[in-house]
Amino acid sequence: MTDITLLPQVEAFLRRRHTLFIDGGYVQSHSSQTLEVINPATDQVIAHVADADAADVDAAVESARRGFQQWSQVAPAVRGNVLLKLADLLERNREELAQIETCQSGKIIQVSRAFEVDQAAHFLRYYAGWATKISGQTLTPSLPSFAGERYTAFTLREPVGVVVGIVPWNFSTMIAIWKLASALVTGCSIIIKPSEFTPLTILRIAELAVDAGLPAGALNVLTGSGRVGQALVEHPGTDKVSFTGSVPTGIAVGRSAASAGLTRATLELGGKNSAGFLRDVDLDTAVNGIIEAGFLHSGQICAAAERFFAHRSQIEPLMARLSERLGKLHIGSPLDERTEFGPVTNRQHQRKLEGFFAKARAENNTIIHGGKPMDRPGCYVEPTVILANSLNDSLLNEETFGPIATFLPYDTEEELLALMNHTPYGLSASLWTNDLSKALRMVPAIHAGTVWVNMHTLLDPAVPFGGVKSSGIGREFGSAFIDDYTELKSVMIRY
Ligand code: NAD
Repeated sequence: MTDITLLPQVEAFLRRRHTLFIDGGYVQSHSSQTLEVINPATDQVIAHVADADAADVDAAVESARRGFQQWSQVAPAVRGNVLLKLADLLERNREELAQIETCQSGKIIQVSRAFEVDQAAHFLRYYAGWATKISGQTLTPSLPSFAGERYTAFTLREPVGVVVGIVPWNFSTMIAIWKLASALVTGCSIIIKPSEFTPLTILRIAELAVDAGLPAGALNVLTGSGRVGQALVEHPGTDKVSFTGSVPTGIAVGRSAASAGLTRATLELGGKNSAGFLRDVDLDTAVNGIIEAGFLHSGQICAAAERFFAHRSQIEPLMARLSERLGKLHIGSPLDERTEFGPVTNRQHQRKLEGFFAKARAENNTIIHGGKPMDRPGCYVEPTVILANSLNDSLLNEETFGPIATFLPYDTEEELLALMNHTPYGLSASLWTNDLSKALRMVPAIHAGTVWVNMHTLLDPAVPFGGVKSSGIGREFGSAFIDDYTELKSVMIRY
């Protein structure tokens, strides 16, 4: 094993006594409770963070309200420049941030660098560009004049106020950046509640945001359990929640937001995404596609595919070739630059995945590859390929959020579409074919917020992203986020 050496600033950061980030700096929590942060590759406790309490929630909301008053008055071009500077600072501190992220999440270092830092900086710059382009419209009222009077009208786009950004553990930095960039560019302030499993990187980024020129209170970070997220959603001083996480928690958050005086809520939830391979795709292209769709970051990606459908004539050779490729993956320490496949992010998740292996066996599914935890320290499970018996099998219906690709054969393209749509979720899906004309005819029949053709999982800030059915409400990216982070005020004038 040849792990890279941790930078001295990473060692020093991990040794810090981590506190909350409120009003432009670190402050002690009112609570004496702390949470352990555990490196899933080694099982070692690498840091402790505060488990915020109700008084901390009040302090963060008061700070965010003051931050909103100030930040919403800052000129759009200046807001955009702050985001651009933050993107530069992410890149300048790339290795430090990537190493902190890998230590807390087990994400392989190459993925931490490429996605949690480089992609996050790319998203920040994209959002920064919107700062100077968000406006209302002038309108022509429709009613006739009664006595010669005239009417004109226009709309204003106003920031919604204090946003609560609740973040999951799989991409702790990039998802936090989506939320803070959407909020800050529209003139809102934001309180980020990171996952209890991965709270560290965003605490460091909050410091960088102040260096980039963000005023106190515009960004606060409250660490803690789900209870902290719930208290923020229910707080009368918050105006909107942007939640990314699992379907059951998302539904609870949506309910709490509605009960707390119809607080606006966007919910980016999980899924059970399908990938359908048409007969014309050659096996090597299909195997590369399956690795991209199902095994990047050990499958811990909301948009990853977990249900794979291949033509009956191809399914056996396809699974055999996939199994051969997975057998050659370099599995190891996420701090070793050669590693292609690392641990999952926490012990709880590893146990959940073991539960899925047991279900597959209990339902007589055929385990083609993997299907076990790995006999080594850390939260490792084998990359796994399963052949299901029927559409009702658990592994084709429940989100595993892990490196498990479950297959079922189809005979006709009509059947393929029915199989792909047979799920209560609809975050993403992909079709793989050389026949683009056929793909374009099939795309409208697929029930998902994003349909990829000959690709899967790649998110682009210019392309809206979000779920249909139980996978969520609202869209991030593109111009679509503007509706969620601003109120539309109508102004009508008689003259
Ligand atoms: P989770 O739902 O367990 O937790 C997400 C966040 O919600 C955490 O910060 C948690 O502390 C907080 N939370 C828990 N209970 C809460 C409550 N009652 N009120 C408010 N906040 C609460 O999800 P997870 O296990 O961290 O992440 C994995 C899930 O996230 C998967 O289902 C995955 O599909 C989904 N996900 C979706 C997207 C997307 O963009 N659609 C992206 C990434 C992950």
